Amino acid sequence: MSGVRPGTRHYTVVCSSCGTRYEDDGLLLDCTRRHEPAFLRAEYEGSGTQTREGSGLFRYASVLPVTRTFADVPGPVVHQAQRLGRRIGLDRLWVAFNGHWPERGAQLPTCTFKDLEAYTVLGRLPDSAPLLVIPSAGNTAAAFAWAATRHRVPCLLVVPAPAMERMRFPGPLGPCVRIVVLDGTATYSDAIACADLLARLPGHHAEGGSRNVGRRDGLGTVMLAAAEAIGRLPDTYVQAVGSGTGAIGAHEAAGRLRTAGEALPRLLMCQNLPFAPLYAAWQATGRAPAERELEPLARELTNRHPPFTIRGGVRDALVESRGDIRCTDNEAALAAIALYEEVEGIDIESGAGVALAALADAVRAGQVRHDELVLLNITGGGRARQAHDLTLVPAEPWLRIPWPGRDEGPGVVAEQVKRLLTNSSAVAEAAR
Ligand SMILES: [Zn+2]
Repeated sequence: MSGVRPGTRHYTVVCSSCGTRYEDDGLLLDCTRRHEPAFLRAEYEGSGTQTREGSGLFRYASVLPVTRTFADVPGPVVHQAQRLGRRIGLDRLWVAFNGHWPERGAQLPTCTFKDLEAYTVLGRLPDSAPLLVIPSAGNTAAAFAWAATRHRVPCLLVVPAPAMERMRFPGPLGPCVRIVVLDGTATYSDAIACADLLARLPGHHAEGGSRNVGRRDGLGTVMLAAAEAIGRLPDTYVQAVGSGTGAIGAHEAAGRLRTAGEALPRLLMCQNLPFAPLYAAWQATGRAPAERELEPLARELTNRHPPFTIRGGVRDALVESRGDIRCTDNEAALAAIALYEEVEGIDIESGAGVALAALADAVRAGQVRHDELVLLNITGGGRARQAHDLTLVPAEPWLRIPWPGRDEGPGVVAEQVKRLLTNSSAVAEAAR
């Protein structure tokens, strides 16, 4: 489909710092040369004249770093939102709805745009791939769990306990999917640290997060679908960010699409106070993100080590697109969720509420003009609607690890990790 020939790769990966080109093995995450931290990015054959065939995510397969596609994977749905736009003072608001909303054709199985990255990452893997290890605050794990179940790809997901709330699926998970739950006070950051250790086991491999070109280009299909629906690139792209991977993916996709002289969409990234490390880093450009983890509404936006200064990362994308990061508090996010439900008739997640609230603020502050063509990425929508429409099956953890608080000392943590490693050494075999 669409230029993808099984077993061959229609793209190369290129280092955004030194320009070294690599033939992709489906797993590569970093440039092997010694220099500043830098993302690899995918460069596609025949860039600019890509074919579009079929529907859903793999309609864009010619600009996805995959060697295989999967049948019946839904894609982003983009529509004009005039009434919502009017309510926040915009004449030309478009929404990319990433979730479950059958009347609009939105069918993402785990209700966020993480479904787009999961299928792309799996389609990028070589045959007989190692066991993928993926830490997540919840949405990414849900997306990978379901995609890996459908296509029988072994993976090991590491999540903090509250993430299990969202682990409900249209059917039972397959035996190739193992969920390790960190109990107690564990945070998303603890899941990341833990997954780093697990990925070092023989036969295991770190999925790589924002460093994985499959993730960024999979999420970037939101921009491709929007440009197709609108007939041009938007002036401004708005999205709530944790790591910023989705916004970088949208930015890279826009760069591939734009015609000579066309401006790149300005990125407006949004975070949720009181925990907004990307916002803090952007305010104090160059300084490290703040080391705080309080209680924002949108837990998935709490990545403590986002790819800010890395070449090709958040800072570069903001500078290249003349973009900005805005913050909003829980109260404003809740009001935005209510507004969306009132006007559009569908529930949205807290992260999407953060994005809508921040956009409304930006319009009020004159940062976004009323006549700009704005694309709002609503990722996390229709979860309540899906629970009403379908019978969802809660996932069972494969392993629960009690996780100590930070003040209990490294010895206790080390003991937990040791147990985790011992318990999981059979995962690679068991999962196959
Ligand atoms: Zn390099």
